[in-house]
Amino acid sequence: MGILEETLQVPGYEKVVKLTEKTSGLQAIIAIHNTTLGPALGGTRIYPYQKFDEALTDVLRLSKGMTYKSAIAQTGLGGGKSVIIADSKTQKTPQLLESFGRAVDRLQGQYVCAEDIGCTIDDCMVIRKATQYVCGLNHQMGSGNPSPYTAWGVFRGIQATMKRLYGSDSLEGKTVAIQGLGSVGAHLMDYLFWAGAKLIVADIDSEKAKRLAHQYRAKVVSPDEILYVPCDILAPCAMGAIINEKSISKLRCQAVVGASNNQLLEEKDAKLLAIRKILYAPDFVVNAGGLVNVLCELSSEGYDATVSRKKVNEIYRQLLTIYDIAEQNSFSTHEAAVALADYRLQYGIGKREKSLCFHY
Ligand code: NAD
Repeated sequence: MGILEETLQVPGYEKVVKLTEKTSGLQAIIAIHNTTLGPALGGTRIYPYQKFDEALTDVLRLSKGMTYKSAIAQTGLGGGKSVIIADSKTQKTPQLLESFGRAVDRLQGQYVCAEDIGCTIDDCMVIRKATQYVCGLNHQMGSGNPSPYTAWGVFRGIQATMKRLYGSDSLEGKTVAIQGLGSVGAHLMDYLFWAGAKLIVADIDSEKAKRLAHQYRAKVVSPDEILYVPCDILAPCAMGAIINEKSISKLRCQAVVGASNNQLLEEKDAKLLAIRKILYAPDFVVNAGGLVNVLCELSSEGYDATVSRKKVNEIYRQLLTIYDIAEQNSFSTHEAAVALADYRLQYGIGKREKSLCFHY
């Protein structure tokens, strides 16, 4: 028995397929939201969802987010995402990953997968055995770990926000509060330290927080406190939905600029932030650095870190444009970013001209 593929009809999505295979235990969904600007690229999340509908909701939300992220970052890519319903610690086997790779391969490049929560770069190398349509690989021509680039994009977003708030993008003496010191948060801490910022940090791993705080002369607060400390910038780098009606009333920052996906619980929360005069950098705009970096791996010239850095630096300008659109149209910054992405999709602006090159 091979992979059983079932197409799910979801309005607004180009293709959503449910995949099952008995032998490997594969249960997965691939969602392709939109390929107007190019092939859909997005990570593969491996997570033990309790119900199929939870997995479906997640993959639909994430794939749509990738369409917007790519349109703003002008990657010439579309939006897609996949989820494998499994516990990455106990159920992830080479057979499962290869079986998933075969399912990706059947789409013939309409969808390209990459690492995500529960799916490491090494796992992508296993998926590669069954399909070429996987990127972010660990080989000589590969782009490697995307997190330093995601963190650099967030750093550029913070600089742009400083420029908007204070007329200068200097971080000297400014206070940044970072929630979460994982792959992105720890790199961001380093960049901010060298730019002269004062740091306040929290992580549920208190030992890690203490160690990094010592290294960068930061102040550690508890995970319960970090959102509400007085600061210039709050940088969420842990989890989503932390900006909501309840938390917004207690924030004491001038702006929110961080890596976490889906920071707003609801879109209306962007308006609530604006009412409190807190500037919000849309997450899908400032956390695109990792995507931009991974894409460089698929150029005809092959991966080049200096090209990647130049492109990630662009997040500074993109964010200032979005702040301008928001101001000129009395939109929230989230609405402005969505409007800009929709405009580019409607007119095919930034559509891919060259095919992706899979060098490995
Ligand atoms: P990670 O898992 O490496 O790090 C997350 C950190 O947050 C961990 O150290 C964890 O202990 C900590 N944490 C969890 N809950 C917390 C809480 N309540 N309070 C404080 N700390 C908490 O993840 P990452 O790769 O650094 O990504 C961070 C966020 O950025 C995620 O939301 C991710 O989806 C998003 N993101 C990451 C990338 C990337 O390139 N890694 C790209 C785009 C978006």
